Amino acid sequence: MIGRNAPGRVVALSPHFDDALMSVGGLLAALDAPVTVVTVHGGVPPDGTASEWDRLCGFASGAEAARARALEDRRACGVIGADPVHLAYPDGIYGAPSSLDALTEVIERLVTEDALVLVPAAVCRHADHHRTRDAALAALAGLDADVWLYADQPYAGRSRHWGGPGAESLADDVWRDRMAPAVTRFGLAEARTVRLTARDWAVKHRAVLAYASQLVPLATYAGHFLAFEGPLNTELVWRVGARPVAARPVREERTEAR
Ligand SMILES: [Zn+2]
Repeated sequence: MIGRNAPGRVVALSPHFDDALMSVGGLLAALDAPVTVVTVHGGVPPDGTASEWDRLCGFASGAEAARARALEDRRACGVIGADPVHLAYPDGIYGAPSSLDALTEVIERLVTEDALVLVPAAVCRHADHHRTRDAALAALAGLDADVWLYADQPYAGRSRHWGGPGAESLADDVWRDRMAPAVTRFGLAEARTVRLTARDWAVKHRAVLAYASQLVPLATYAGHFLAFEGPLNTELVWRVGARPVAARPVREERTEAR
C-alpha cells in the first residue's frame, strides 16, 4: 500500500471521466479511507456540436456524451465505494478553460493534512491531463498532504517499459519529457508498482466496465486492456514533494502485489 500513514481521506483527480479509475482503480478500491474522485472536465459543453471522439462513441452531441458519462462515472465510483465530484469544465476539445480555479477551490476544501492525493502524471500528450496536473500541483504546493502522481491509462500501457523498472525510473524518453515540468519542480522521491490481486482486479474491472460508452473505441488502440493479464492490472505511482524541491533521481524500488 502507499502513503506515509493510514490516510484520513483519499482524493483522486481525474482529467476526464474514467482516467482515475482506469489508472489507479485497484489502489482506490483497496485504500482503507473515504475516497473522492474529482473529474475536472466533468461539465456539459454547449449543445449542437460533437467531437470526433464523441461521435465515435456513439453520441450525436458533446452534451449528450457528457451527461451519459457523468452517469457512467457515478456507477463506476459506486463499484469502488468512492464519492464522485464533477467540476463544470467541459472536455477541453470543446475549448480550453482559461484557468482551473474550481479545481484549486475543491483541493483547498477536500485536502486535509492527513489526505492522500492522486494526480495524473500526464505521460500522454493530452493537454487536459497536463493542465490538471500542473494546476493541482500548484494548489497542493502549500499543503502538507501526501501527493502521488499516477501513470495515466490507457496511454501508459503502450510504453515498452510498462510493468518494469524502466517505467518507474522514467527510462521512457517520451514520459520524461512529458513529466519534466512536474519532476523538475517537485522531484520524485519514490516509485511504486502495484500488481493487482485477482480479487482487486475483479473490482477494478467491474468499475472500468461502467465506462461502457468509451470502451469499444478505446479497444481499437489500447488492445487487450480489459484482459486479466492486460496493462490495467498494473498501476504505477510516484510520490512527489508537496513543495518545490531540486530534482532528485527516482529511487528504483519495485513493490509487488500487496
Ligand atoms: Zn483523459
